Amino acid sequence: MLETAVALIKDTGKKLNLSDEQIADLIAPDTEHNFEIELKSGKKFQAYRVQHSNKLGPYKGGIRFHPNVDLNEVRALATLMSFKTAVAGLPMGGGKGGVVVNPKELTKAELEELSRKYVRGLHQHIGPDKDVPAPDVNTNAQIIDWMVDEFEQLTGDKSKASFTGKSIDNGGSLGRDAATGRGGVIVLRELLNKLSINKPITYAVQGWGNVGSFFALVAKAEHDDWKLVAATDSSGGVYNKTGFSAKSLDEYKKSGGKLAGFKIGQKISNEDLIGLDVDVLVLAALEDAVTKDNAGQVRAKIILELANGPVSYDAYKTLSAVGKTVVPDILANAGGVIVSYLEWLQNKNEEHWPEDKVNRALENYLVKATDQVYEASKKQNMTLTEAAFAVATARLVV
Ligand code: NAD
Repeated sequence: MLETAVALIKDTGKKLNLSDEQIADLIAPDTEHNFEIELKSGKKFQAYRVQHSNKLGPYKGGIRFHPNVDLNEVRALATLMSFKTAVAGLPMGGGKGGVVVNPKELTKAELEELSRKYVRGLHQHIGPDKDVPAPDVNTNAQIIDWMVDEFEQLTGDKSKASFTGKSIDNGGSLGRDAATGRGGVIVLRELLNKLSINKPITYAVQGWGNVGSFFALVAKAEHDDWKLVAATDSSGGVYNKTGFSAKSLDEYKKSGGKLAGFKIGQKISNEDLIGLDVDVLVLAALEDAVTKDNAGQVRAKIILELANGPVSYDAYKTLSAVGKTVVPDILANAGGVIVSYLEWLQNKNEEHWPEDKVNRALENYLVKATDQVYEASKKQNMTLTEAAFAVATARLVV
């Protein structure tokens, strides 16, 4: 994923006639924190926080607890965050954190100890006006609430603006859970309008998790003519030409079911889903879901990158060369960080907004960002990915 992010920044920098030094400056992180956490039990875990750029405001980005976390992955995600906050027009920078751990192997007490010790290792470098972390893969509101509490104890800061993704009772924002999926719906709707695609569409979702499920639920509520014909999770999934009810799939999944076992539709694998004849392929699972090996199978005209980096650089080149529209992650999934920013803003101003106010603000940011990216792509004859990076680069370059 780091290679993809770096290659996209280099491509855009060259198109904008930036010097090698300016491009190198855009890629290089400001600071990397790399430390070990030891639990009372003696178990040790490697921890990272990469602060990529604070040119536009405090660093902002999630903390991932996963056995596959490594420094390159954290660097890539931090870099993408800087470009995402920039393209969204937020006064925030980019950062990312991670701990190499399988949280499923920890007791609840160990998970709390790990979360608190992560903050102890970093508290001098983070805070409401320095770096504002959030949840990411395998981290949630409970973990963030422990982290906020630890940060308060260490620094005396009572603003709750040190982290976002908190529980609602602890200063979290309404609308945050659905924000990334909702944002994906807004971006897709705006693009369909701009591309004058006014007919009903079919779509398939890879990754029925937080992002993928809210995308489908919001799409159903707001666009009855968008038909969900396939969905998968890590077990595989199902296809049904006549369409699924997003609500039924979601209830089934929330009750503990695996999508491969859903009783309606034809069983499909994740590879089958990539090759389905749909209008829009929604990638909401993992990075590198489409690579040069399977890019040739993609039949959808539009590929919506709701996960971070789901289309590799080679695959993006292949898809663009045959006229397909890849909607880049830094725009398509920016809804999450926009509402994170709104949470921070509410905490700073000691406010608590109703959900419709949050959703209206989200809508405003994304309509504007999509318009700017689309206009840049037209004016400068760029793909949407290049245009998104170009809009962000113009704001980030010194
Ligand atoms: P999640 O853990 O809630 O859901 C991930 C889903 O993907 C699960 O249903 C899982 O079963 C499925 N999955 C895992 N491996 C798969 C595979 N090989 N094929 C198909 N499905 C697979 O995570 P999430 O919060 O929905 O995040 C999904 C992606 O979106 C991640 O890349 C994340 O970094 C990115 N993202 C999330 C947010 C957010 O607000 N949650 C914001 C921006 C980007």
